[in-house]
Amino acid sequence: MENGFSYVDNTLYAEGVALADIAARTGTPCYVYSAGSILSKYRAYHEALADVPHRICYAVKANFNLGVLRLLAGAGAGFDIVSGGELYRVLKAGGDPSKIVFSGVGKTAAEIEFALDQRIFSFNCESEAELALIDALAARRAIKARVAIRVNPDVDAATHPYISTGLRNHKFGVDIAEVERVYERARRLPALALEGVSCHIGSQLLDTDPIIEAVDIMLALAGRLRARGIPIRHVDFGGGLGIRYKPEDEAPEVKRFAAALREKVLDKDLEVTVEPGRSIVGEAGVLVTRVLYRKRTGRKEFIVVDASMSDLIRPALYQSHHEIIPLRRSPALGTVVADVVGPVCESGDFLARDRELANVLPGDLLAVCSAGAYGFALASNYNSRPRPAEVLVEGTAWRVVRARESYADLVRGE
Ligand SMILES: *Cc1c(COP(=O)(O)O)cnc(C)c1O
Repeated sequence: MENGFSYVDNTLYAEGVALADIAARTGTPCYVYSAGSILSKYRAYHEALADVPHRICYAVKANFNLGVLRLLAGAGAGFDIVSGGELYRVLKAGGDPSKIVFSGVGKTAAEIEFALDQRIFSFNCESEAELALIDALAARRAIKARVAIRVNPDVDAATHPYISTGLRNHKFGVDIAEVERVYERARRLPALALEGVSCHIGSQLLDTDPIIEAVDIMLALAGRLRARGIPIRHVDFGGGLGIRYKPEDEAPEVKRFAAALREKVLDKDLEVTVEPGRSIVGEAGVLVTRVLYRKRTGRKEFIVVDASMSDLIRPALYQSHHEIIPLRRSPALGTVVADVVGPVCESGDFLARDRELANVLPGDLLAVCSAGAYGFALASNYNSRPRPAEVLVEGTAWRVVRARESYADLVRGE
């Protein structure tokens, strides 16, 4: 079952459950995730790297639902976090602190202290000031903090500019040209165990060549640091593998990419970390929405649905494409070219533009595909819209893993 979603007798299923049955019980809009699909992607990484010491640290920011985190923690995954809130979630979900890496350019003292107290595996540090702060806070606790320095390898990820992170002019990491001097200064900080190097060059990479180029650069750097007497034990290559949004996208297969990575690191006497987010959960989720109205203005045809940019901002933010397919397929329906838009008061509120799709009518249900990553995670309450329910399907069973927000939730804390 590819990615957990398929038609049976023209009815769209998530694993063994008809999506329309879920929508009837939870209402719409609602996110639905396939547990089987998530686990199969995780295992593809894990198995391809079986004979290399490794950590698969799922990037929590892609989809932070506790149900998803529990599923991955249960399978043995580690986690890549970028905030204290994400650390809190991972601990709630039963994640193992010794498999957590903490990334991000702006860690606060409180977040660093929280992570030190949990004895996480490693901090991926992004500046000398951060190294000094971690050193001071670890010294106060009389412990050693394991750190890696995030290197900016200056390779072009060739993806959307907002999610490209590995060029010299980006805010991330330490410039590859300066990093050895930074290691030399950091090795004098007594409360740091300077054991790793890390990078992450961007997201939604459909071509793996830039990642492999970064791998070579990082392995060469690890070798140079070892030659200087800095005992590098682990290398973290970040996340970034792209997924299929359009049917014609040639997305890299996790298995093939991880196998290529294994070739590079075999017999290097290094522990390997990867931080995949999107490639684990992206294709494992859909956003189910109901058609409210059809309308025509000027030359344009609109399908107005009950999901909006507040539920899924990717089309508005990154001009990204999500396939939109009917829950009930019928050749008799025919197709229409239309904009699929939500109720939010912005012209940027669209899920698709000038798209040929099933000629659906008010009341019909649609699935917005490949919405498992950076979907709910980027949802907001804009226009005072309660955030949607989230559902996890496992075989023929399903459960709500996050209830739809109520109006009372909207004003909590005000
Ligand atoms: C966002 C991010 C990831 C995950 O990226 P994906 O493209 O979702 O795989 C991994 N590591 C870091 C440091 C990140 O910021």
